[in-house]
Amino acid sequence: MSESRVALVTGGSRGIGRKIAERFAKEGYNLVINYVSDNTNIDEISNEIKGDSNIEILFVKADVTSFESCENMVKEAMDKFGRIDVLVNNAGITKDGLLMRMQEDDFTRVIDVNLKGTFNVTKNVIPYMMKQRYGKIINISSVVGETGNAGQANYAASKAGIIGFTKSVAKELASRNILANCVAPGFIKTDMTDVLSDSVKESINAQIPLKKMGTAEEVANAVYFLGNEENTYITGQVLNVNGGMLM
Ligand code: NAP
Repeated sequence: MSESRVALVTGGSRGIGRKIAERFAKEGYNLVINYVSDNTNIDEISNEIKGDSNIEILFVKADVTSFESCENMVKEAMDKFGRIDVLVNNAGITKDGLLMRMQEDDFTRVIDVNLKGTFNVTKNVIPYMMKQRYGKIINISSVVGETGNAGQANYAASKAGIIGFTKSVAKELASRNILANCVAPGFIKTDMTDVLSDSVKESINAQIPLKKMGTAEEVANAVYFLGNEENTYITGQVLNVNGGMLM
């Protein structure tokens, strides 16, 4: 590899996305880190991820629900680095509630961020990957996209949709040497699961064969496995990282 490869991670400011960014940084990838919140401390994140390395990081504030913002983000990334080798669609939210009580906005917003956001970024990145004749796309789904979950009809639908989307992209782009896969985490310790009560966490742990929630690093390792140059023959797959919740 004559020049450093580039990985774009949506929602890379914290949680799983942050650990994915760190994993690629550790391997010498330059990074495009997307986030949306105003209170994100870019300097602190940048220093922590870079450490002593020579990698470069471009931070882009963009709401993945906006196609235009995603288009601008990808253009900015191309202007800076001239290539995007790895795309990780990680940005995601939950708005849980039983269907009986779920508001239309809660359904629409979750689909917009998780599924439409994945489309918005992927659609803008693939022309460049096609020209490069190289690309790795990893979309973050969830175990509940495969099993369903009471109280998460919106979220489970978005994550199941991501699996169908990924398999279609994998079929369309295989001839251009672009490999697309999903990583489907189970319950992982992040801000997203910190909101759960201790009793809910205990009952979740009891259902996991490994009897504990996973870490963001464990998900990041799976993403790197699919996204690195040595993966030349795995595409259209769902890699489960869930402590054995689904076998
Ligand atoms: P998290 O800690 O809540 O972090 C979410 C990330 O997404 C943040 O970086 C946030 O950016 C970003 N984000 C949210 N809305 C966005 C938007 N509209 N545009 C751009 N970025 C946006 O969540 P996490 O637990 O790390 O989850 C990461 C991914 O893994 C999600 O897709 C989630 O569904 C999936 N997942 C998580 C678990 C779990 O147990 N934690 C399990 C299965 C799947 P800001 O920092 O700027 O707000």
